[in-house]
Amino acid sequence: MMKRRRVARKSAGSFAPRIDVEEWMQNNPELMVHCPNQPGGLKLTKGACAKRHVTANEPRYANIGAEPFHVFVFKMNLVPCKNCEIGARLAAEQKTQVA
Ligand code: SF4
Repeated sequence: MMKRRRVARKSAGSFAPRIDVEEWMQNNPELMVHCPNQPGGLKLTKGACAKRHVTANEPRYANIGAEPFHVFVFKMNLVPCKNCEIGARLAAEQKTQVA
């Protein structure tokens, strides 16, 4: 019987960011928002939150149907963001900053 040679995988560290995420979050609390609507006590940047709100309100995400499963999951994940006041406020703030 021929044995298969094990090929060592590159360590996951080569793709990991070279910053201490916990330290970064402690030093930049004003950039983060705690989402009360997503499961798991989600913390994300205000920019990401605003982007989720804007994305959730795009016409192509209005209908949730029998798409491929990963698209269905993505759309379902955006449902709480659609009418979220936090996301709407942050999106409006970002819009005024850009203008
Ligand atoms: S838009 Fe609302 S529901 Fe969506 S991530 Fe932001 S706070 Fe959470």
